[in-house]
Amino acid sequence: MRTSHDVIVVGLGGMGSAAARSLAARGAGVLGLERFGPAHALGASHGGSRIIRLAYYEDPSYVPLLRTAYDLWARLEQDTGQGLVSRCGALFLGPPDHGVFAGTLRAAREHGLDHEVLDAGEVRRRYEVLHPDDSMLGVHEDIAGILSPEAGVQAHLDVAGRAGADLRFGAPIISWTVDGSGVAVETAGGAFRAQRLILTPGAWASDLLSLPGLPLHVERRLQLWFEPRAQHAAFEALPVWMWERADSLIFYGLPLRDGAAKVAIHDRGEPCHPDSVDRVIHPAEVAEMRDVLHDAVPDLAAGSFVRGSACTYTLTPDHHFVVGTHPAHPQVSIACGFSGHGFKFSPVIGEVLADLALGGQTDHPIALFDPARFLSSLRA
Ligand SMILES: Cc1cc2nc3c(=O)[nH]c(=O)nc-3n(C[C@H](O)[C@H](O)[C@H](O)COP(=O)(O)OP(=O)(O)OC[C@H]3O[C@@H](n4cnc5c(N)ncnc54)[C@H](O)[C@@H]3O)c2cc1C
Repeated sequence: MRTSHDVIVVGLGGMGSAAARSLAARGAGVLGLERFGPAHALGASHGGSRIIRLAYYEDPSYVPLLRTAYDLWARLEQDTGQGLVSRCGALFLGPPDHGVFAGTLRAAREHGLDHEVLDAGEVRRRYEVLHPDDSMLGVHEDIAGILSPEAGVQAHLDVAGRAGADLRFGAPIISWTVDGSGVAVETAGGAFRAQRLILTPGAWASDLLSLPGLPLHVERRLQLWFEPRAQHAAFEALPVWMWERADSLIFYGLPLRDGAAKVAIHDRGEPCHPDSVDRVIHPAEVAEMRDVLHDAVPDLAAGSFVRGSACTYTLTPDHHFVVGTHPAHPQVSIACGFSGHGFKFSPVIGEVLADLALGGQTDHPIALFDPARFLSSLRA
């Protein structure tokens, strides 16, 4: 058995890199183990951009965490001297009784957030390349913007490393066991001991958590970039836009950057295992995206396909996260099941995980993410 640490963090992607930073900043002895390299493209934290927004349509109870996340991203910008959040605003469009519009408005009103409601005519006037029909409404939020996942992960790793965290890459863990009041972790390069273990393995959670009852479902999701056929300046000036159709399909796009605009379908993908994700973008998938954009954003639908990148969503049945103490092992904390909307939260999830590992509890509001909600045998 080699050196003993206070906390071992397994998986240094979005959440694990942030946990390593939070722990190291508090003076804990941290060992971080990552199977691939730093800020790699084989998990869920790659593709150049992630949306950050405050009026959260998924549930208003995310808003306090998001406020903290905004503060922590700003602190990380100060600590690294690097811009990480690019504010361009966001527009949430859909039928008035559907989740994207109604949920955004509800969160904005419940938490007194700055927002503006726009009818479809006003959306078409302000953003001439977006073509919602008259049955749709929009909410605009100024504070929303874009984060780079690779830069965010690297920034967390850099700050963690500077604060003394021992971060090892190309170091897949094979197994872990609880060992008295601590934990033992087995890698190809040797075994390690610590007082506490944090598991942030992303799409590999089902393989690693030892919680067979946790219903996690991994799906391949695409991020695609198109160059519009015209109106480049109008595409550059767009906010992020999220669009829900009458049939509840949600798709979204980002403003034009470096000649291409990123678009994606939020809720369409096929099941996969993260070890064997199909990385090829197939012509039928590009055609499907054009079809979805056809009436909504015609200049993009008819534009040229530039590139694409496959990614993974780890979905829970209710699409809320799984964050908490391992239901069977108090010395182990887990964070997974981010259901395709977790990256913006990574610095606050890092703080939550550090609280749980070092103190067994957190003041951050994470009741919605209780792992036990899916494990009926563990519910009181
Ligand atoms: C196409 C797409 C678009 C998205 N858009 C947004 C968005 O706009 N806004 C937003 O907030 N979120 C978005 N998300 C979701 C967000 O990116 C994820 O929720 C977040 O990045 C997940 O972070 P993670 O740390 O759980 O996973 P990852 O970043 O994948 O990290 C898990 C890490 O664990 C490592 N690991 C696994 N098993 C082992 C092992 N045995 N040993 C060692 N290491 C191991 C992996 O290699 C990986 O590095 C999007 C996701 C996708 C795919």
